[in-house]
Formats: sequence, structure tokens, C-alpha cells
Amino acid sequence: KNTFRFYSESIGESMAERFKMEVALRNDLSASTPSSSPFFVVYQPQYNAKKQVVGAEALVRWSSAELGFISPAKFIPVAEEVGLIDELGMFVVNRVLHDISNMASLFEKSTLDHVSINLSIKQLTNPTLTSRLLNAFQHEGVSPDKVRFEFTESVFLDNALNPKALFSEMSEIGFTFALDDFGTGFSSLSYLKDLPISELKIDKTFVDGIPNEESDTTICSATISMAQKLGLQLVAEGVETEGQFDWLVAHGCNLLQGYLMSQPIEYKEFVSLLEKSHVD
Ligand code: C2E
Ligand code: CA
Ligand code: CA
Ligand code: CA
Repeated sequence: KNTFRFYSESIGESMAERFKMEVALRNDLSASTPSSSPFFVVYQPQYNAKKQVVGAEALVRWSSAELGFISPAKFIPVAEEVGLIDELGMFVVNRVLHDISNMASLFEKSTLDHVSINLSIKQLTNPTLTSRLLNAFQHEGVSPDKVRFEFTESVFLDNALNPKALFSEMSEIGFTFALDDFGTGFSSLSYLKDLPISELKIDKTFVDGIPNEESDTTICSATISMAQKLGLQLVAEGVETEGQFDWLVAHGCNLLQGYLMSQPIEYKEFVSLLEKSHVD
């Protein structure tokens, strides 16, 4: 009757961990109002070559009363598996739209152009995504061009999804897209020519090897020139050293994100960063 008795101790433990996490996720998502939520959003600024803030990536954080602080790299996959990612994802969208609406004047006065939000494949395969997003944007009175959605190459490997149809529909509304973790997903490059993508994000694993690993610098410079020729913006992620920054700028990559310039920071801190960098 009970067929689950053969797993090893370590798998058993991790299944218990996952179950604990699922229960805590469920509680924390349902029990709280946005302002008292143990979930919150931080913003990692994105810079141009002059080190002006031109964008930010919204990243979710979870400070669980029971489990403590847990990395999204751990709880996002669990939320996806147990069917909570739509709810968590809309929490992030609503939070970011609310913050954007409070930053309206800063968008005018600063070099800030948009905020990026990560969408998981599970969110993209939900047929109600577009209408829920439209409602959320209308509710907060935010124009779709203030947000860019990041997705990974996994969308091209999922048989349940027609990315061309979805992204065309969404881009007609005014949404724009960035392909995240570019080059790590084992998918074909052909999608680059017929999907409405605005931006590629070159993965940190390639940036890490700059300037000394020849294979990484080759991949980076090839990606930069491909993006330029296709008319796509290119963001380098995980920039940690001056050497990486200078190399990337010298090779034509003029959008950069990483700990060298800033870690992800809370909304208030992001606002004061923008206020300090007003352009008149
Ligand atoms: P990602 O989308 O590739 O996000 C970039 C990750 O790299 C973030 O980790 C960021 O804090 C980290 N990072 C940025 N610059 C540097 C750097 O210079 N050095 C190093 N070592 N790391 C850097 P984080 O916030 O822990 O997020 C991990 C992953 O969790 C994200 O990877 C994304 O896949 C997922 N995630 C985070 N927030 C969300 C969300 O709201 N929705 C969805 N669906 N996924 C999210
Ligand atoms: Ca602006
Ligand atoms: Ca991302
Ligand atoms: Ca990434």
C-alpha cells in the first residue's frame, strides 16, 4: 500500500524539507496582506557604460517565520512544482507595479527606463497570464513599456507552449521581453529571428571568465556582435570586477548588472539611488 518506503535517508530528508517548504509557502502566501507579507521584492540596478541607472531587475525574497531566509533558487522550483508559482508570481508583479506607480516622477527625472520581472515557464504556460497581467497593469495605471519580462530558453523546449503566439500576443499589448541566462539552455538560435525579443542577458557563467578565459571571452564577444547585428539590447549579468566591466564596455556591451555596481537593494534604497542620480 505504501510504496514510498524505499527512498534513501538523504532523499527522505530532502522530501521532508520540500514538504515543510510547501506548507510554509502556502501559509505565507495566503495569510498575509501585501504590507505584512514575508515575501518582498528587491531591485538590482542595471547600468549603462557611464554607470547611470537605466533599469532594474526585480528579485523576490522570502523571510519565513518558520524556516528563516531562503534563497529564491531554492523556493521558486518548489513553488513551481506544487502549483504556487502563479500566486507568487502575481504577488511580485503587483508589488513591482505598485512601486513603479510610486516612482512615476522618477521615471521622468532619471535615466531609469524600465524594471524587469522574471517569469517562470510555468507562468508562461498558464493561458490566463495575459489577462491577469492586463488587469494588474490597469489596476495600478502602469504602462506596459515600464516593465520588461525575463524568461529562459526553457520556453523553447516546452511542448505545451507556443512561444511565438504568446509573445506576439503580449508584445501587441506593449510588453517587452528579455532572454535570460542566454547561452546556457541548449536551444536553437533560430527563435531569435522570429520572436519579438528586445534584450539578451549574457549569463554570469560566461562573464566570470572575463578577461582571462579565452573560451568565455570568445562567447561574450560573439554574443555582443550577434546582439548588435540583430538589433537587440545586451545586458551582461554577474559583473563583479572592474576588469570585467572595462572589457565588456570596450567590446561594445553597454548594459551591465552585477555586484561591482550594486547588489539587489530594497525599494527605498533604490529610490534614493535614483534621486541622487537625477539628470536635468
Ligand atoms: P536570475 O534571474 O538569473 O537572477 C540573477 C541572480 O544573480 C540573482 O540571484 C542576483 O542576486 C544574482 N546576482 C546578480 N549579480 C550578481 C553578481 O555580481 N554575482 C553573483 N554571484 N550573483 C549575482 P537571486 O536573487 O538569488 O535569484 C536567483 C534566481 O531565482 C534568479 O536567477 C531567478 O531564476 C529566480 N528568481 C528570483 N526572483 C524571481 C521571481 O520574482 N520570479 C521568478 N520566476 N524567479 C525568480
Ligand atoms: Ca526615463
Ligand atoms: Ca533574471
Ligand atoms: Ca540570469
